[in-house]
Amino acid sequence: MKKSKVLLLLVFLAVISLFFIYDLQHYLSLQVLKTQQHAIESYRIEHPALTVLIYMLLYIAVTGLSLPGATILTLAGGAVFGLTWGTLIVSFASTIGATLAFLAARFLFQDTVTTHFASRLKIINQGIERDGAFYLFTLRLVPVFPFFMINLTMGLTTLRLWTFYWVSQLGMLAGTIVYINAGTQLAKIDSLAGILSPALLASFALLGVFPLAAKKIVETIKARQIYRQWNKPKLFDNNIVVIGGGSAGLVTSYIAAAVKAKVTLIEKHKMGGDCLNTGCVPSKALIRTAKHLSHIKRSAEFGIKQVDVEFDFAEVMERVQKVIQTVEPHDSIERYTELGVDVLTGEAKIISPWEVQVQTEDGVQTISTRSIVIAAGARPFVPPIPGLEQVKPLTSDTVWKLRELPKRLLVLGGGPIGCELSQSFARLGSQVTQVEMLPRIMIREDPEVSESVMARFKQEGVDIRVGHTAKEFIVEQGEKILIAEYEGQSVKIAFDEVLVAIGRAANITAYGVEELGIALSDRKTIATNGFQQTNYPNIFACGDVAGPYQFTHTAAHQAWYAAVNALFGQFKRFKTDYSVIPWSTFTDPEVARVGLNEQEAKEQNIAYEVVSYGIDDLDRAIADSEAHGFVKVLTQPGKDKILGVTVVGEHAGDLIAEFVLAMKQGIGLNKILGTIHIYPTMAEANKYVAGAWKKQHAPQTLLKCVARFHSWRRG
Ligand SMILES: Cc1cc2nc3c(=O)[nH]c(=O)nc-3n(C[C@H](O)[C@H](O)[C@H](O)COP(=O)(O)OP(=O)(O)OC[C@H]3O[C@@H](n4cnc5c(N)ncnc54)[C@H](O)[C@@H]3O)c2cc1C
Repeated sequence: MKKSKVLLLLVFLAVISLFFIYDLQHYLSLQVLKTQQHAIESYRIEHPALTVLIYMLLYIAVTGLSLPGATILTLAGGAVFGLTWGTLIVSFASTIGATLAFLAARFLFQDTVTTHFASRLKIINQGIERDGAFYLFTLRLVPVFPFFMINLTMGLTTLRLWTFYWVSQLGMLAGTIVYINAGTQLAKIDSLAGILSPALLASFALLGVFPLAAKKIVETIKARQIYRQWNKPKLFDNNIVVIGGGSAGLVTSYIAAAVKAKVTLIEKHKMGGDCLNTGCVPSKALIRTAKHLSHIKRSAEFGIKQVDVEFDFAEVMERVQKVIQTVEPHDSIERYTELGVDVLTGEAKIISPWEVQVQTEDGVQTISTRSIVIAAGARPFVPPIPGLEQVKPLTSDTVWKLRELPKRLLVLGGGPIGCELSQSFARLGSQVTQVEMLPRIMIREDPEVSESVMARFKQEGVDIRVGHTAKEFIVEQGEKILIAEYEGQSVKIAFDEVLVAIGRAANITAYGVEELGIALSDRKTIATNGFQQTNYPNIFACGDVAGPYQFTHTAAHQAWYAAVNALFGQFKRFKTDYSVIPWSTFTDPEVARVGLNEQEAKEQNIAYEVVSYGIDDLDRAIADSEAHGFVKVLTQPGKDKILGVTVVGEHAGDLIAEFVLAMKQGIGLNKILGTIHIYPTMAEANKYVAGAWKKQHAPQTLLKCVARFHSWRRG
C-alpha cells in the first residue's frame, strides 16, 4: 500500500477509535435527541442556515466514516426541519456521505482486493457492468445489509461513481421519508424498532425486488418481440438442426443423438471441417515429417556420422492427405448416421428462427426445428493489402494443395499457424521469411517464450522479420516482392509464394445471419451469452463462429453446452465453463499454456509468484538430446494454488495436461510434488517445478532449528 493510503487509513482509524473511546455514540441516541430537541430547535430558529450546514456536515461525517448513528440523525432531521426540508437535507447528506465512504473504500482497498481476488472480482464486476444499478437499488431498499457495508463493498467493484450516487439517492429516498416522517412525531417514538412495521418492511422488499423482476420481464418481452415477425410452426420435424460439420457441429450432433433427440447435421463441404481437412490434422502431419527431417539433419548429435536424405515434397504432401483419409472415418457421414444423426450434404440457410433451408444436390429442403445450433466455423482472413491478389496468396485452406516446394516462402503472421508452417516449410527446405508486424512472434506468450522459439527458428534458417508491416505487393520483372515498413523505412522482400496467416474471420454471411438480425460481437463473431445462446434464445452458436477461442477442444467444449442448453434449457441451463482453457502451439520447441502467464497477470493486476524449472537439467531430455525449454508456473503468493503454467519444450502440449487437471480440480503444487512420476520421463519436469516451488517456500526458521537438533544429536 502506498504511503498516502496508509496515512489516510490511519487518520480514519484514529477518528473512528476516538468516536468509540469517548463514547460519542451515546450522543446519537433516541433519549439524548428527545431531551435536546427543544435546545436544537431554538438554535435552528436563531441560526437556520448554520444549523443546516452543521447538521449536513455531521451527517456526512457519520455516514462517510461508516459510524453508527445515521438513523438517529435522520429522525433528528425530521424533528428539526420537518418533512419536506428534512427529506431534502437528509437525502443529499446521506448520499454524499455514502459516496465518500464508497470513494474511500475504492481509494484505499480496490487495488489490493483486485490484486488478490482478481478472478472472483472479475465475475462480480461483469455482473456489476450488466446489472449494477439494479442490484444497488435493490440493496438500498431491501434492508438486509447495513448501508455502510453496501457503500464500502460497492467501492471495491467497478461500479461508476455517478451510477452509485444517483441510484443511492433514489434507492434511499423511500426509507428516508419514513424516518423523517417518524422524526416529525419524535415524542411518540419509544424505540427505533417500532418505526419500520413488518408491513412496511415487506413493501420495501417488494419495491426493492421489483426492478430486478421488471428487468427479467423486459428481457422476456424483448425475446418475444424478436420472434414476433415470424410464424412459429405448430409441429417441428426436429429437436435440433446443426449447421456445420466441423469440431463444434460434430460434437453438438453427437450429444443430441446420444440423448435420443432428432438431429440433422448439415455440412456444405467436407465433414470434419477445418480441423480435419485444412487445420490441426494436416498441419500436425506435416510437422511430423518436418521434425523427422530435422532429426536427420541433427544425426551427428545422436552419434550417427552421415545420413543421406532424399525426398519428394509431393510425396510428403500426399502423406498428409493419407493421414487425413485415415482420420476421416471418425468424422464421416456413415459414422454419424450410425450414431443416429441425419446428415445432409448441402448449404444451410436459416429462413426463420425455427426453419432451416438446405440446398442439396437433390433440390431444396426445409426442416422445421425447435433449436438451431450454428457451428459454421471461420476462414483465413486475407487483408486488403494492395497488390496481394496478383501474387495469388496461399492460406491455410489452400497450402495443402501445393505439390512443389516453394523455393522462397514468405509467411505473413507470427501467430500459431504462421509459426507452425514457417518452421515446417523451412525444415522441408524452403527459404522462409516470416513477417510479423508486432515486436515479437507469439505475442500472447511471455517474452522468453517468443525468444526461445525465435532462437530456434533463426538457428534453423527462418528469417524472422518482426516489427515489419506489410504495405504492398508488387511484381517486378516477374519477381514477386513484398514492400514492408520497418522502423519508418521501406524494405523489399522477394519471394516465390506467400502464405497469409494473420488470423481467422468467423463465417457470418450468406446463411441467414443478416436476414434474421442475429447479433454479432465486436470481434465480428456471432454474439452469444454464457449459455451459447444468440439474441434468439432458441438459436445457439459454438466453435470458431462464436469464439472467443479458436481451437478444436474449445469448439467441442462449447458444443456440449450448446447441445444440452438447446435440448434441456427450459429445465436447466448450463453456463459455459471457461475457468481452465489450455492450448498448445506445435512448433519446435512446443509451447503449451494453461491459465495466466506473467504478462497477463501484470495486465490484470493479479498478484503472483513465479517458479521455473529448466528442462535442460532433466535426465530424459538430456538422453533424448532435447535438453532445452522450461516449465514456468505462476502461483498465488504464499500458496501452492496454480494460477497458470507455460511449458516450452518437447511434448509441452502433453506435459501440460497434468497442470490442466490440477487447475480444474483445485490440486496444488504440493500434491503434484507428492505424486510419483515415472523415471526417466519428460513428465518429471512437472514434479521438479513443484519441488522448486517447495524449496522457495521452505520454512527457514524451522530448518535452522532442525539443523541445530541434528548437530546436537551428533554430539
Ligand atoms: C492450420 C491450422 C492448424 C490448426 N491447428 C490446431 C490445433 O493444433 N489444435 C486446435 O485445437 N485447433 C487448431 N486449429 C483450429 C481448429 O481447426 C478450429 O478451431 C476448429 O476447426 C473449429 O471448429 P468449428 O467446428 O468451429 O469450425 P470448422 O471446423 O471450420 O467447421 C465449420 C463447418 O461449417 C461448414 N459450414 C459453414 N457454413 C455452412 C452452411 N451455410 N451450410 C453448411 N455447412 C456450413 C463449413 O463447411 C465447415 O465444415 C487449427 C486451424 C488451422 C487453420
